[in-house]
Amino acid sequence: MAYRVLARKCRPQTFDEVIGQKHVTRTLRNAIKEQRVAHAFLFSGERGVGKTSIARILAKCLNCHSGPTAVPCGVCPSCLEITGGNCIDVHEIDGASNNGVDDIRLLRENVKYMPSRDRNKIYIIDEVHMLSTSAFNALLKTLEEPPPHVVFIFATTEPHKIPDTILSRCLRFDFKRIPSGDIVEHLGSIAQGEHVAISRHGLMLIAREADGSMRDAQTILERAIAYCGMEIGDADLQDMLGHIDRQIICRVLKAVIAEDAKACIDALDEVYQLGIDLKQFYFSLLETLRDIMILKSVKEPARLVDASDDDMAQLQELEAGVTRQELLRMFRLCFSSENDIVRSALPRIALEVCLLEMMELKRALPLEEIMAQLDALQSSGGFGPQRQAFAPPAPQRSAPAPGRPSAQPQGGTPSAGHAGIPSIPSPAASGTGSEAFCAFIKNKSPAMGSCIAHGSVEVGADGSIQVLFPAGSFHMDQLRDGESEARLKELAAEFFGKSVPVTIAAGGEKKKTAEHAEKERRQVTREQVLHNPVIRKIVDTFNGSIVDIRPLAEGGIDELRQHYEAGPADPGADGEAEQ
Ligand SMILES: [Zn+2]
Repeated sequence: MAYRVLARKCRPQTFDEVIGQKHVTRTLRNAIKEQRVAHAFLFSGERGVGKTSIARILAKCLNCHSGPTAVPCGVCPSCLEITGGNCIDVHEIDGASNNGVDDIRLLRENVKYMPSRDRNKIYIIDEVHMLSTSAFNALLKTLEEPPPHVVFIFATTEPHKIPDTILSRCLRFDFKRIPSGDIVEHLGSIAQGEHVAISRHGLMLIAREADGSMRDAQTILERAIAYCGMEIGDADLQDMLGHIDRQIICRVLKAVIAEDAKACIDALDEVYQLGIDLKQFYFSLLETLRDIMILKSVKEPARLVDASDDDMAQLQELEAGVTRQELLRMFRLCFSSENDIVRSALPRIALEVCLLEMMELKRALPLEEIMAQLDALQSSGGFGPQRQAFAPPAPQRSAPAPGRPSAQPQGGTPSAGHAGIPSIPSPAASGTGSEAFCAFIKNKSPAMGSCIAHGSVEVGADGSIQVLFPAGSFHMDQLRDGESEARLKELAAEFFGKSVPVTIAAGGEKKKTAEHAEKERRQVTREQVLHNPVIRKIVDTFNGSIVDIRPLAEGGIDELRQHYEAGPADPGADGEAEQ
């Protein structure tokens, strides 16, 4: 008998033999029993998880001479031919190479004819997402009104590329990655059947490499048999897979955790001398960090971590030496160094830097500790009243500058409570009012407009107007000239639609631009922060420096705390807190 590759030899022939897709086989079985079989199925999932195998089993179920049945006989001509892949009524089409509209038109012509021998005409289209748009459109017409004897089974690794119109007409099954435990079991029984000796650890290495694909696992086992013969040793297998011994990865990590730079760089040198691909080493390092993180975070991690008993003991030892926070930060740093290491022409240096940085990170104070110290400071009376130092200072304009002459409105009533200065509304409101007034003046009389631009114009809530100039201003004298003042009043009356009191007085500051005010406000805040005893103590305690000052609203500290407690802070925020 001709040699058949393992993956074909071990292809499941019944639903019972399918591994890891119970949710699919169970539904299909029930549908067949209840004779409620759809006209179109979509099987989606990673490669090698059993999509085509289940499609063939389904075809047998539907066309078996003793069927339709959920348990095909396996011996009738129909079953035998489907197993052999040469059944005249079951068409297996590769969507990748038959993806044109003409291929589908041909299929549509064929669909019309009755099956030649069996109950149904079954079309299994693999990689269906490769069909062109026009091919999908042609297919849609058939799917909309399928002849009763036709069943379509589509398989795809990329269901998102299939148009919704097609998806909505299919009964969809999402295939899962096969758990490594299941792969190990199944490979073990195959090895036994083939009289191949391989350790459980070896099977685990293969399962890890196969990443949920049974077909890949079988192919790797086959390669291992070719490479090692009937006795597959762990070391040989590791060699073949280009796998890096976990022991050496664990040694590097152990040195990082112990903050032993020399041991760490030495271990990495050993990796280099062994000729191990450093980029591969980086990915294994990342995987190992991930495994340690799983051990740290999950109660029953055995299912999620593929490791031999020896390796597991090592991982557990490493896990015990770090906190979860440290681990997360190490992982994040390692993860974000991918570009530096994988694309670098000097991966060794990039890797060394990454490892040393991980060591530094570990040394950094954890956030909880910082927050605890802040709490301690706060309860010792640190933050009480000083907290206002974090709030932006009140706008300065609302308080009249000392020495500003009181401007008595000429005709209007002085507002209650404030003798002298008419109540100046919020800066924003007066800002807009005076800006509009200034613009109006500039438009009517450019000369007067440029003159008042040298002073500051304030429009009171009652419509009174003050034009303030620095003492001795030439522009003030110019404006006070009888004719100009009269003209200004005239224009003000025109602007407000009524006669309003206008005062031209000395003592006003030069009008501040918004930018200028903001700059000044920052300066004041900065002074306050720099002289705040609590801040100084924090800077001293953590031997840090002030990088940036940003205003916080009242309660901002609590907000900040919540932000940090809500989840792991991103490395940027981490860095800032640790400055
Ligand atoms: Zn049969």
